[in-house]
Formats: sequence, C-alpha cells, structure tokens
Amino acid sequence: MDYPFFNSKALSDGNVYDLTDPVDRLKYFHAKLGNKIEQIKTYLDTNSFIAYMMAKKLAGKGTYAKMTEDIFGANRMAHISVGDVIRRVHMLIEDPTAAAELRSYLEKNYRGFLSIDESLDALKNRTQDKISIPTEFLLCLLKREISMMGKKALFIDGLPRNMDQISASLYFRDLINYRDDPDFFILIDTPNEILNARMTNRRVCPYCQTSKNLLFNPSQFIKYDKLSDEIYFVCDNTLCSGYGVAKYVSKEGDREGIHSIEERLNADAELMSVASTLQGVPKILLRSAYPVKIAEDYLEDYEIQPKLVYNADGDKVTMTKENWVFKDDSGQECYTIYAATYVVNMVTSLHKILFG
Ligand SMILES: [Zn+2]
Repeated sequence: MDYPFFNSKALSDGNVYDLTDPVDRLKYFHAKLGNKIEQIKTYLDTNSFIAYMMAKKLAGKGTYAKMTEDIFGANRMAHISVGDVIRRVHMLIEDPTAAAELRSYLEKNYRGFLSIDESLDALKNRTQDKISIPTEFLLCLLKREISMMGKKALFIDGLPRNMDQISASLYFRDLINYRDDPDFFILIDTPNEILNARMTNRRVCPYCQTSKNLLFNPSQFIKYDKLSDEIYFVCDNTLCSGYGVAKYVSKEGDREGIHSIEERLNADAELMSVASTLQGVPKILLRSAYPVKIAEDYLEDYEIQPKLVYNADGDKVTMTKENWVFKDDSGQECYTIYAATYVVNMVTSLHKILFG
C-alpha cells in the first residue's frame, strides 16, 4: 500500500509557525485549513461521523485526535480510547453501586457467547493485550460509553485490534445508532525507526506521570549529570515542585527500544494492511516519512520535526535544534513532520469525505 505524499506546501500562507506552541498551532490550522474548519463545524452541529484510527503502537493516534478535537471543540467531537474505556470499567466494577448499574445495562444490551460474569472475569484478568476480551462484550462497553456522551463525531482509537473486530467495525455505526453518518478508517503509516526514537527517548515524571521526550519534547528544566554523563529533565509542573527535584525517568523497558514490542508492532502492521484493502468504506492514509531529497517539494521547513541537541558546560545546558534524518523501513533517508501537520493532512482528507 502506497501512502500518498501530502502537499502542505501548496497551502502555504507565507508565514512561519511554531508548531510546539498551542496558540501558534491554532493560527497554523486556520492558515492551512481556512474555511474548511467552519464548514466542518457547521456540519457537525447537526451531523456526526465515526473515524476508526489505526496505527502501530506509539504512532501518536491519541495526540492527533486530541489536536483535532481542539480545533472543532469537545462539544462536537470525542476521542474514545478503547484502553481507557476498559480501565474505567475495571475501576467501576470495584464499586458495588456502579457495578450494579453496569450489570443492569449489560443485561439489557449484551449479546454474546460468554456469560456476563465470564466476560467481566476476562476483563479483570486481561493482560496488556486487550484482545483477550470478547469482541461482543467490548462492543457493548463502547456502546454504553458512547450513549452517555450525547451525539458527537467520534475518533475511535483501539478498535479494531484483530481481524474479527475489523468486520465488527464495519457494522458498528448501526449498533450505536449512527446509521446515517459517514464512517471511515484513518491509517497512519509510521516507520519503526520513528517509534524506536520515541520509545527510547521517552522520559516520565514519577509524580505527575507527565511524559516528555529527550529528542523531541523537552521539559523547561534541563540538567546534566556529570557522573553518568547524561542529560535529564526536571518536572516543570508546579504541582511537582513540592517534591524538590522531580527527575524524569525512563519507564521500564523503554530504553531497550521496540524489539520488546516487535510482535505487537507486526500484528498492528498486518491488521492495517488488511484494513487498507477494505472495499466500500473510505480510508484516509497518513504518511509519516518524507524522503529527504523530495521533502521540500511537499513541506515547509517549519513543518519538519527537528531533533534536540544538548551541550553541557558545567551546570549550564544549552539546547539547539537540528534536522532529524532517519531511515524508513526500506532504508531510505527521510524526515518526518510535527503532529500538527498530520492533523492538517487528516482534516483536509476528512473535508473531502464529507463534502466531496
Ligand atoms: Zn511532574
């Protein structure tokens, strides 16, 4: 499957935007998307849609959905993470009153091979892999979640997760009474080297769990540890200043990189390749990698994701930005784009689906 190159350069207004700054980013969206934003907003006042987001783990689905929600408003759009829904249900069944309410919903709405108790056990005993939860049961939990939020456009993240669920998602809009609304798949192609760089450089505050990245997304406070010759972040969240120096750490397994999750990444890739052959349902294909030699035909300089380079002089750490060149899965030298540019690509394609 060839993912198309998105020509963002053709939408240039001649200005340069700082895509790491939320205010500038919103200006950027308006510059690149123009009246498409108002048109989609008006459409969403009386209609909705369902987008199934598919990408490999760590490809940033949640970030893109959240940024899109920022453009159109949380009253018109919702990001539904299947993982979050499952975690919420798990917490809920610890509370007797809430558990009884859930059970009464399930008795009215659930149909499947396993009993409600067996299904709840599967949920409680799930491993990292949500696949062990029966699809019929998962669909019912999602239906409940969606029925509680009022009608909105939905970005569903985490369904489908296996071949069974691909078929189920083709009919999911009927199940949740979105029958007359468009539904489509968003497939995001991300080379492994990008995922690996995100994983190995990810750092997390042990107190507030905020996640940053050494290469791409720094804390305000950057320090250097002479002993280990390592750059580290101190949390810039005011809530964490009470802990003295809240030093960011690597989550377990992160430093070893993506081979620890290789099986999962291969399964994700295979599923996406099957979804890309689906007939009768629109697909939005988002590309992450732009070969260095042709990138400037499609992208403006400020849309290319740089990497951060640190220089420690005693206690003082300075930071500069450099072009980040990586190899895509076929070994070609590439650049990638900021999250905001994925969103411009996605909304442009979404507009085409809704208005032709
Ligand atoms: Zn913190």
